[in-house]
Amino acid sequence: MLSILCRYGELFLKSGNRGFFLRAMADNVRRAVRDLPDAKVSTPYGRILVRVPDELREDACARLERVFGLVSLSPGVEAEPEIAAITATAVSEARAAIARRPELGRSFKVEARRANKQFPTRSHDINCHVGGAVKDALGLPVDVHKPGLRLGIEVHASTAYVFAEIRPAPGGLPVGVSGRGLLLLSGGIDSPVAGWLAAKRGLALEALTFHSPPFTGERAKDKVVSLLRVLSRWQVASTLRVAHFTDTQQRLREAGPADLAVVLYRRMMVRVASLLCERTRCSAIVTGENLGQVASQTLPNMATIEQAARHLVLRPLLTYDKMETVALARHIGTYETSSLPYEDCCSLFTPAHPATAATLAEVEVAEAKLDVAKEANEIAANCERIVV
Ligand code: ATP
Ligand code: MG
Repeated sequence: MLSILCRYGELFLKSGNRGFFLRAMADNVRRAVRDLPDAKVSTPYGRILVRVPDELREDACARLERVFGLVSLSPGVEAEPEIAAITATAVSEARAAIARRPELGRSFKVEARRANKQFPTRSHDINCHVGGAVKDALGLPVDVHKPGLRLGIEVHASTAYVFAEIRPAPGGLPVGVSGRGLLLLSGGIDSPVAGWLAAKRGLALEALTFHSPPFTGERAKDKVVSLLRVLSRWQVASTLRVAHFTDTQQRLREAGPADLAVVLYRRMMVRVASLLCERTRCSAIVTGENLGQVASQTLPNMATIEQAARHLVLRPLLTYDKMETVALARHIGTYETSSLPYEDCCSLFTPAHPATAATLAEVEVAEAKLDVAKEANEIAANCERIVV
């Protein structure tokens, strides 16, 4: 069996909520590996340890590299907490690591930590003893400054961990510890990234998308479901509500001047989002809005849109440049899908010159022509729910 030692950020544990955070962290790790055959998660010595069969190494590590709150992982093996066993294990781990990545085989260093202070050999002496054995067995030179291979050893009372790799994990906070939010997910590049950033700070999200059939086709909806599938691999969100927007959208367009259309649609979207927040115990709405990116995303327009919401509106991408967002979208794995051409409902009936400073007074004149509260209630009540 492979033992993967998972390290989490210590900073967030200082608040006296240690148990709560650690439980959330371990639950999320369990969720990430639960469908791997024979995977076991435990929390010995305040660590999170994942055991999986050796052949699942890459799959398990790839999943854990997407768990927010973890800062690094070390796949390795366990040995009896006894110097001969540790040494033999270290030699075989070093050999296996170099077989996997020959470029590491130029030099090495041993970094032992004696967590159990009763262990008779001190850390420095473990380094020397194991180092000598690895040097003899593999013919590698020691380099304490820039080693090719770093062999880590952690000695505890009932076991010792030996590993030859430290992989970075995404950091952030465990999903769920900061509360719950509702993500307005379009098929675009921005909103999946916004959701990812919110989840990285510990928000558990559900997603809501607006769809206007027949103007937006099945493929536009499938695109959002595909995005959700990628996001679910990061535990960002796995439930999507699809709101049917066609009729209301047409009535809104007819109610006001063309240049207000986008602001009117957006106000309806956040109105519906607020209703769903109440039903799903979410306390914030998350959007991919970005300052100045398009005409609807000016300060006056965002302020006018926000006044239709009864919940906090979070805009993680507010200050991002497009290039920064695109780089993140590629890293997350949503970029390709987001770049598919199918239109979403906000591109529909969009005027050539949308207003850049819609006032509340203007939009309220238009909204007075329909019963916006009733329309929002109906849309919220008739959402289709998709779980991936
Ligand atoms: P995105 O790439 O996320 O679509 P964008 O830069 O294209 O963003 P807009 O299309 O103006 O910007 O949308 C701003 C935000 O409004 C989106 O990031 C998203 O949160 C929300 N939104 C837009 N269209 C929809 C939709 N059809 N369903 C749900 N939310 C939407
Ligand atoms: Mg868009």
